Amino acid sequence: MTLFGFLRRLFGVRSEAEPMISCEEALAVVHEYLDGELDASQHERVRAHFDVCARCYPGLQAEEAFRAVVRRAEEGCTAPPELRERVLAALAAVGED
Ligand SMILES: [Zn+2]
Repeated sequence: MTLFGFLRRLFGVRSEAEPMISCEEALAVVHEYLDGELDASQHERVRAHFDVCARCYPGLQAEEAFRAVVRRAEEGCTAPPELRERVLAALAAVGED
């Protein structure tokens, strides 16, 4: 959280009355945003920024694409047991030199 954000929260300034957050503020929490770890008002403010900010949009898209690739790799792509055995045998053979 930025100092400014901390002070706003400290003094109870409601998010509805707040101006748009900056690109720096939005991008600083992009991981938490995509992970759904922000509280509702914070999430809404970040979403509102990404909705209208052409500058942040490519960064958000790249992050989402990267996450999709990682998810797919985690879900579908595991080495078959035979391959694992061959790789381990090859590594053991190299280690014997
Ligand atoms: Zn932005």
